[in-house]
Amino acid sequence: MNETAKRARAVVDLAAVRSNVQALRACAPRAELMAVVKSDGYGHGAVRCGRAAREAGADWLGTALPEEAFALRAAGDTGRLMCWLWTPGGPWREAVEQDIDVSVSGLWALREVTAAARACGRTARVQLKVDTGLGRNGCQPADWPELTAAARAAEAEGAVSVTGVWSHFACADEPGHPSIAVQLAAFQDALKTAEAAGLRPEVRHLSNTPATLTLPEAHFDLVRAGIGVYGISPSPELGTSRDFGLRPAMTLEAALASVKRVPGGHGVSYGYAYTTPGETTLALVPLGYADGVPRHASGTGPVLVAGKWRTVAGRIAMDQFVVDLGGDSAAAGDPAVLFGPGDRGEPTAEDWARAAGTIGYEIVTRIGTRVPRVYVDSGIGNGAAEAEEAEGDTALTGGTA
Ligand SMILES: *Cc1c(COP(=O)(O)O)cnc(C)c1O
Repeated sequence: MNETAKRARAVVDLAAVRSNVQALRACAPRAELMAVVKSDGYGHGAVRCGRAAREAGADWLGTALPEEAFALRAAGDTGRLMCWLWTPGGPWREAVEQDIDVSVSGLWALREVTAAARACGRTARVQLKVDTGLGRNGCQPADWPELTAAARAAEAEGAVSVTGVWSHFACADEPGHPSIAVQLAAFQDALKTAEAAGLRPEVRHLSNTPATLTLPEAHFDLVRAGIGVYGISPSPELGTSRDFGLRPAMTLEAALASVKRVPGGHGVSYGYAYTTPGETTLALVPLGYADGVPRHASGTGPVLVAGKWRTVAGRIAMDQFVVDLGGDSAAAGDPAVLFGPGDRGEPTAEDWARAAGTIGYEIVTRIGTRVPRVYVDSGIGNGAAEAEEAEGDTALTGGTA
């Protein structure tokens, strides 16, 4: 392990990723599964997690940005791959040449991708997105007949193939929310319009992780699971990861940088938001908000140190924070576990989300580039011993789809 990894590391268990993909596939047995690996696999490493997801049967990988999709291709992935967040200017041609399915929400994008396909003499794989109520990307229902007709014309010319029609939920993580039925109905309408325009998409899809877990009627041909792949529950209201048979893949841990006795009344960290109640032992954890530890969790974030849950004492700084061990002892170099799967008594990313007033997605996604990712394979499900893999091995041997 390198010097940096001695300070802190994010250990990613690829066996957990595989077992989560299998659990999600079991939730949507009649649909294909897309493992969403945007934002470097929600901070876990897109290439390594993408490969693990493929091994566990993910039919598709999905990214937000085209550059994220290109990185997967550059690492050797050859399976079905989609990316959806485009701005005028592309890069459309590279996506067409790399057989990446691109999302189109409006006529400007259809024109640009059609031109790129003509320029390189290939057929663009286009998935039309309809806004069924989320209000972000996607074509408004009023403009949908025009977009589907234009796409059909481009298809007839051979420039594009409409491979998918899709949309995205706003409140799938709130079971029973009235918008869910409204969006489902709007999606059904949009599918009818696309069909009437002569389109025959291979995949129709609407479900993110919460809908994959709780709304079978929304699975259609494909489900797009992101956070569940990494073993984190989309929301506490829905349940914990354990409730869904998901296992958190990332463990964030550090080595204590200092342990010392201090007298009572000693201020701790910037602003003296914490003062020692009596003589005590302070331990210094060398991770801070530059590493993605949310400053909002100052005074509330949980950490396992010397066998017990502790709470961050005082403010989280850029590079470090302090915990008060009270009468317990520890030594510099001892481990501090911020979060992990929870089965060694450590907190989870969901616990940090609660402490910081955010969601588990943000906790793992923001872990900074200063924290090395170390890949292990715990062999969940086959009883194999934990084996550490070499870091920096980014070869992606490719999909099977
Ligand atoms: C991020 C994203 C997903 C995955 O959402 P999860 O809640 O993480 O499963 C699916 N579809 C789109 C369009 C996304 O942007």
